[in-house]
Amino acid sequence: MTIARTAIIAGNWKMNFGPKQAASFTSNILPTLGKITRANPHVLSIICPPAISLAAVHEVMEAMPAPHIELGAQNMYFEEKGAFTGEISPEMVKELCTTVILGHSERRGYFHENDELVNKKVLAALNHGLRPIICVGENLAQYESGKTHSFIETQIQHSLANLDATQAKQIVIAYEPIWAIGTGKAATAEGANQVIHFIRHTYTAMYGQTAADTIHILYGGSVTGANIADFIAYADIDGALIGGSSIKSDFAEILQKTA
Ligand code: PGA
Repeated sequence: MTIARTAIIAGNWKMNFGPKQAASFTSNILPTLGKITRANPHVLSIICPPAISLAAVHEVMEAMPAPHIELGAQNMYFEEKGAFTGEISPEMVKELCTTVILGHSERRGYFHENDELVNKKVLAALNHGLRPIICVGENLAQYESGKTHSFIETQIQHSLANLDATQAKQIVIAYEPIWAIGTGKAATAEGANQVIHFIRHTYTAMYGQTAADTIHILYGGSVTGANIADFIAYADIDGALIGGSSIKSDFAEILQKTA
């Protein structure tokens, strides 16, 4: 990790914790997280509960203010408002959150989101002052057949197309190999760093060196308190997107070891 880029530890709670459980979990863990971020201004933590629990978690965060801890949504639609049953708009997310995860492999896989849709959401997020965390990553077959780079290059080029020069510096990318998500089988830190380096290289070709040096690129996939230090030891890895370990006390340990 370079000093120049703040470390980001984001927790993707996925479809866990309704409003009551979310509020209770947040009340329990927030004092510990706040102690860590108060002592270490170079780390930012972003909590991403399910949409229905955002307001409850926001309320707890208002009542227990802690620096460098922000709220994020796990998804949103790109339209402003109207007849889109079941969706939430950028403006709605912005009322409570600073950040939104977009293009997670579970959205791409189960809900058929493609790069074009993800790109529309990315632009909508940026136009509303939200920080998008855009997820990319190859599946096991692509990994085993040596197609990781070509697949990810396409994902980056299409999901992140058409940003202006300012927007190009405001995004976060999460490299999450699908075979490492929720499997307990994390990528090696060296392997993750190599792909992340390639992502930064791809992004440089799109938006130039300054933008590529400014953006954060995270690793995600079976990150725990036991392996986080290996990842963030690498210069190109700016933090992590945490799934399973984000709804346990492990999350505080991960943050502590990053700070
Ligand atoms: P995991 O999930 O940490 O449970 O592997 C990561 C993610 O999907 O963001």
